[in-house]
Amino acid sequence: MFSRWRERLGGTMRFRLAWWYALIFVVSSAMIVALTYVLLAAALRQYDHQIIQTTLVEFATAYARGGVTGLSREIQRTQSSGAAGPLFVRVGGRQNVVFLSMPEGWRGFDLSQLSEPGLAGEQSWATLDTGVPGAEVLEVASVRLGDGTLFQVGRSTARRTDLLQRFRRLLLVDAATIILVGLVGGAMLTWSAMQPVRALTETVRGIMRTGRTSARVPVQEPGDALGDLSALVNAMLDRIDAVVSGMRGALDNVAHDLRTPMARLRGTAESALASEDPETLRGALADCLEESDRIMAMLSTLMDISEAETGTMAIRSEPTDIASLVQQTVELYEDLAEEHGLTIGVDTPADLVVPLDRNRMRQVLANLLDNAVKYTPGGGSIAISARSDAEWAVIAVTDTGVGIPADELPHIWDRLYRGDKSRSTRGLGLGLSLVRAIVEAHGGRVEATSTPGAGSRFELRLPAGGPNISRL
Ligand code: ADP
Repeated sequence: MFSRWRERLGGTMRFRLAWWYALIFVVSSAMIVALTYVLLAAALRQYDHQIIQTTLVEFATAYARGGVTGLSREIQRTQSSGAAGPLFVRVGGRQNVVFLSMPEGWRGFDLSQLSEPGLAGEQSWATLDTGVPGAEVLEVASVRLGDGTLFQVGRSTARRTDLLQRFRRLLLVDAATIILVGLVGGAMLTWSAMQPVRALTETVRGIMRTGRTSARVPVQEPGDALGDLSALVNAMLDRIDAVVSGMRGALDNVAHDLRTPMARLRGTAESALASEDPETLRGALADCLEESDRIMAMLSTLMDISEAETGTMAIRSEPTDIASLVQQTVELYEDLAEEHGLTIGVDTPADLVVPLDRNRMRQVLANLLDNAVKYTPGGGSIAISARSDAEWAVIAVTDTGVGIPADELPHIWDRLYRGDKSRSTRGLGLGLSLVRAIVEAHGGRVEATSTPGAGSRFELRLPAGGPNISRL
């Protein structure tokens, strides 16, 4: 029964929410109702006691003034007004009862239950019953007057009991309504509170079924927790979409770009097979070797880029002296630069130490220097500088080369992208993609600015405190 209910409410979380809402609502309402009842009963009791006490004072005064006759007159007057209802009045001397007045129907009460205060001015309360359950009950106040007379006035609790009984009946109707409102309200509240979760589940289920990541979760209340979660899931889907389409594009590019060297490889091998000359065969083998090296370099760079972009590239960060890292890389390119008639200037502070992966960062600098040498005509110059502020270490590679047209600038970071004028120079179009992937894997960023015909500047910003994954 319980589990069927749970199923009907549609799952554990929804059931729990509805159940807790209803429980809290019903319990707090029940507490308010119970408190109201207790306070009402206490107030009615106090009111009854007040009536008895006032009557007692009035009767005692009448008795003191006019004796039994005066008291009888006063009782008659009070009874005829009907305000206090039927009353029990007893006056006793030291030994015997002097006066007793009570309705006929009350003869069954056991008067021996009445307490008798000993001291003058002292007052006590007693409750008399007939011993029959549910029958009327009398509340009697007893007072010992100054002359030793015992004065007792009592009143039935029937009116109060009747009133409270009616109130209890009303409360039962109230309680049933409260429980109904609690259950229905709980179910409705939970249903609407869970709406964003349902939308989220539907979207994710749709994606799992169709494999299409174009679906998005409707964000109903931006700013609240579930709205933020939906927005976050959408942002994640955007990112997945971008990565998937990036990978698809890269795969297309690789397939396309591999076709040419593979065809060349095949062509070289085919023409070599037709020849008997050992020299031609050696030359063909050397060409094949070169071509396959090229293909392998391209594939390994692509793998590196993917690793860096997906966050699986191991970054072995260690405190690195930027000046010596730059110097080591420049040394690799000095001869090549000289051959091209270029000069390389270095301006790095001696004490700049940044935590980074030396080998990866050497790859970055080598790629930037390689490009600078490739795209700067003879007579030009290349400059590498470094500086640091509180947060970042900034390394810049500047050249006086051909520059990059403004429409090409946004694309230079794309995998396998090669500028129009660069087609004749060697290269795979992967260098800058790798540069950016490695720098971002370090928690940094890279920017290029260029004036066509005057030169380009590539600026790396690396976190001075080392790679911080949250920056990614
Ligand atoms: P590759 O150099 O192999 O073509 P990269 O990814 O290193 O590939 O560079 C992409 C493109 O960016 C190059 O084809 C070129 O058009 C442009 N580029 C990169 N560096 C420079 C530079 N220093 N000066 C001018 N153009 C550059």
